[in-house]
Amino acid sequence: MFNSLSDRLTATFKNLRGKGRLSEADVDATVREIRRALLDADVAVPVVREFTASIRERALGAEVAAALNPAQQIVKIVNEELKDVLGGATRRIRFAKHPPTVIMLAGLQGAGKTTLAGKLGKWLAAQGHKPLLVAADLQRPNAVTQLQIVGQRAGVGVYAPHPGTTSDADVPTGDPVQVARDGVTEARNKLHDIVIIDTAGRLGVDAEMMAQAADIRAATSPDEVLFVIDAMIGQDAVNTALAFQEGVAFTGVVLSKLDGDARGGAALSVASVTGQPVMFASTGEGLDDFELFHPDRMAGRILDMGDVLSLIEQAERSWDKAEADRMAKKFADQEDFTFEDFLAQMQQIRKMGSMKKMLMMMPGAAGIREQLENFDEREIDRVEAIVRSMTPHERVASKIINGSRRARIARGSGVTVSEVNQLMERFTQAQKMMKQMARGGGVPGMPGMAG
Ligand code: GDP
Repeated sequence: MFNSLSDRLTATFKNLRGKGRLSEADVDATVREIRRALLDADVAVPVVREFTASIRERALGAEVAAALNPAQQIVKIVNEELKDVLGGATRRIRFAKHPPTVIMLAGLQGAGKTTLAGKLGKWLAAQGHKPLLVAADLQRPNAVTQLQIVGQRAGVGVYAPHPGTTSDADVPTGDPVQVARDGVTEARNKLHDIVIIDTAGRLGVDAEMMAQAADIRAATSPDEVLFVIDAMIGQDAVNTALAFQEGVAFTGVVLSKLDGDARGGAALSVASVTGQPVMFASTGEGLDDFELFHPDRMAGRILDMGDVLSLIEQAERSWDKAEADRMAKKFADQEDFTFEDFLAQMQQIRKMGSMKKMLMMMPGAAGIREQLENFDEREIDRVEAIVRSMTPHERVASKIINGSRRARIARGSGVTVSEVNQLMERFTQAQKMMKQMARGGGVPGMPGMAG
């Protein structure tokens, strides 16, 4: 996510570190570097110009001159400006006073609208809402079927009066505007409080598609029109966004495919040129690869200040309360941490999704990105296989695991004895650490994953 931009900016700031005072030449050199980094990341030229101008002005101003650490002050300024470019404050969905709240999705074909409908549906359902997805994309041959599948996986209702097709040859016939209108009526009748309308997109902006989207908007008076844009789209982003703004007057932006190694800068420009905030980020093909977009946290991630808040939220979303309570009690009672507990914690971590994705949100992640890129998710599988090859007794009484047992465990799990040894060592350390923390009244962490 914005990796190269992040690398470039952090490298720029590194050059400033240790400078007591910044001369105008220092500031100019820094601003020049920032400008290049943004342009290379595909951020639109007018946005770059405005951005760097305000950085320069502030960097030469009193707040930096008076600062104890001018370099840090500049990072702070860039952070604030970046946050503004991304839309400022976090913008949440505006719900209708009288349900259902209608959310319309618009964007080019392949932007990720249908996938987003499922993600958004699942996310809203988890908050106690009862969303209905409406299949008003009758353009793309398999869009209706795809929405039905996505709805099923998300566990939310789908309104699709026209049969979907999985063949490229035929397209479902019917009037998408009527489908959208009927979808809202259906939601009202069946007491859904949210309607998410999936609309057709084209490979490029065209008048017919835009007219259809505008008609759907007029027919359903949505509370939110979300413009979904593929972060990989490059310099076309700005023109596409402006066309959709004129065509459907969207109220928020969704950046999709932020998981790719897109330079992503064009997506950064969209909020700035349209004046509409980024509301959500899509970060993968899975239904949970989705998050509320916080401009301040994203700015922090780009500047490698980490995004611990998002990390915690993600953990909370998937954390099993009963399991956490069980661990906490064990901990309070100063019971031994066993391989059984270890296994249970691994399951929790797995539920949080990709380990790599989580590590990337840690402060300083950009500095060790290469190691993280090489992080092998299968390492977790290997560790789990080792633990599963232990007998139940070995798992609770790890002290008995001697040389011959280790050899057996290694054979059983298809790893080398030295890998088993490494895990045993890490485990013993973790156990010791837990004991120490228990005495000191600390909180249990995620032992075993260290190292
Ligand atoms: P639509 O034409 O706008 O409805 O786009 P789709 O929802 O069909 O998405 C197009 C393709 O992009 C599909 O293969 C999706 O699985 C994929 N996709 C959607 N969102 C993301 C994302 O955030 N990350 C990645 N990597 N792929 C995505």
